[in-house]
Amino acid sequence: MADSIFSTRTSPSNDAGTRLSILMYHQVGCFKAMRAHRANYCDAGRFARQMAMLAYGGFNVMTLEQALAGLRGARPLPPRAVLLTFDDAYAGFLEHALPVLSRHRFPAVVYAISDWLGQRMRWAEPAPGRAEPALMSAGQLRGLREVGISVGSHGVSHRKLAELTPKEQALELTQSRAALEDLLGEPVQDLCYPFGSFSQETVRLAADAGYRSAMTCLRGAASGSDHPLVLPRKAISFGDNLLGFAWKLAKHRPKPALEEWRRWSRQRSSDPAAVSGRASVSAPVDVPVSASDNDPCSNPICDPFSAPVSAATGPSVTAKVGIEPKVAVLPDPLSVQAS
Ligand SMILES: [Zn+2]
Repeated sequence: MADSIFSTRTSPSNDAGTRLSILMYHQVGCFKAMRAHRANYCDAGRFARQMAMLAYGGFNVMTLEQALAGLRGARPLPPRAVLLTFDDAYAGFLEHALPVLSRHRFPAVVYAISDWLGQRMRWAEPAPGRAEPALMSAGQLRGLREVGISVGSHGVSHRKLAELTPKEQALELTQSRAALEDLLGEPVQDLCYPFGSFSQETVRLAADAGYRSAMTCLRGAASGSDHPLVLPRKAISFGDNLLGFAWKLAKHRPKPALEEWRRWSRQRSSDPAAVSGRASVSAPVDVPVSASDNDPCSNPICDPFSAPVSAATGPSVTAKVGIEPKVAVLPDPLSVQAS
């Protein structure tokens, strides 16, 4: 069954209006208060309290497998569904996050960068006065699987995919997957776009590379209508106290960039010319994306909105959704897998 990134998916979970909160974390640990890049940090004490809130607040923390099955309608998404994701595979996860997750028996997904394992994060300047954080080694990553934490790909070298040529993107997608599969001895089918940077072409290439899901930095709750290779998340920031955390869990309304992406996708799917490859729908207006301190994607470590729009790669979420893309009908990895 073929599916297009432009098509609006339907599923029982979507019809029921159930939503999945995919929470996005980066580093968990003990940090001095900072003014910038706050969403790349989560205080260990706050993290413990947030997980306790999930445990005792009736939330259903799901495995990635369960979450994807719920989104595609293979099983109902439970109420208060949550998926925990951790970008970059920081070594601090082992000391500060994993014990808490284990205590509550919470599953999670860690997205690793295949060429950076065991090194220090050097793809961007650390926040002023801060050391370059250590990344998990290959052995530590293998250890995660033994305790039930899922591992996905975050590329080979943490580059903004939408800025790369299709060939470079394909290499990032296929080589990282192959390297992690070699390391873990099992299929790696899940992806997280570095910096949240992707274009329509990236999504097509991710499908070609065999990925079944991909996380973005588009902000909002995920539902069955989202394409599995363009899943939105909710960023948890250093500044989120328990009240702020609860607010993010409850608030499902999409941020403008996600809203615009969804509107643009629906618009394309309703245009027969788009399906046939003769695109004639005018591109949506540029979405003004406001960078906030609470947005992990508003800093140089993980900034999906900082790059120039690439006419060659279509509506790049690295920048603004607003350039008419090349049209492609994408295979639906979940449908293919299910059939
Ligand atoms: Zn990252």
